[in-house]
Amino acid sequence: MQSVALITGASRGIGRGIALELAKLGWNVVINYAGNRPAAETTASDCLAAARAAQHAIRAEPFQADIAEAPQRTRLLDFTREVFGRLDLLVNNAGVAPQVRADLLEASEESFDRLMRINVKGPYFLTQKAARWMIAQAAQTPPGQPRPKIVTITSISAYTASVNRGDYCMAKAALAMLTPLFAARLAEYGIQVFEIRPGIIATDMTGPVKDKYDQLIAGGLTPITRWGQPEDIGKAVAAIAQGLFPFSTGEVINVDGGFHLRRL
Ligand code: NAP
Repeated sequence: MQSVALITGASRGIGRGIALELAKLGWNVVINYAGNRPAAETTASDCLAAARAAQHAIRAEPFQADIAEAPQRTRLLDFTREVFGRLDLLVNNAGVAPQVRADLLEASEESFDRLMRINVKGPYFLTQKAARWMIAQAAQTPPGQPRPKIVTITSISAYTASVNRGDYCMAKAALAMLTPLFAARLAEYGIQVFEIRPGIIATDMTGPVKDKYDQLIAGGLTPITRWGQPEDIGKAVAAIAQGLFPFSTGEVINVDGGFHLRRL
């Protein structure tokens, strides 16, 4: 049976990088996006090409759904069920930065609510719904066969104070609790749950602050002195997808060039 991954926010950036790495492994992928259909279609055709180059025949299906909206989360899972009939990996990747980077003393409640809805509530309830399906699927899985898995993409902002985007930091700190919660709840079903915590990754999200981060990285902000790339995250997800962490759950995997290291 060919494995199926649902990756939220896979039209661009990190989600796209994850979809491509899974495609190379021969996984079918559902490429969720919010509004950018052309980008999602490009990712889908690039996934097909990447799979073909690795001698795999896969399906890559773009699907629009705003993960902040409950009926759209339901549509997304229904689509995955109708097209593939199974779900082996949910990747909670979709997320947004504040529209304006505003100082902590000025930032608006509207921005806070937007980030909480997309970056926290969306993945939390999508995971709840997916987990119920995964439990049922796990019950039908013969012993020794892989069980479904869940990966959530947070950020170094879960523990790093950026006073010009406090709402983003608050949202990522809250999202970091998703993994211990679902890991503890789902372990009895053999469903493993992981957090991947990216550092500074070259995507549209970081485009507007490229020059600032260029300088910080060159100045030694990260022990590995380069920008992270979407495929760096994709490879970490691929390792989890392949079952290379069989006795771990609830784990945080930093993919940040060593940003999290305290140095003296
Ligand atoms: P990005 O380039 O801005 O891409 C965002 C993706 O999420 C797009 O596919 C977008 O779809 C989708 N999306 C946005 N809102 C959505 C919604 N409400 N429902 C469904 N999909 C939605 O961002 P990125 O840099 O790849 O970031 C991906 C994740 O990594 C985010 O959670 C972000 O917080 C996290 N992260 C990023 C960095 C970084 O340095 N870039 C670092 C740490 C963590 P459309 O194309 O349709 O707009």
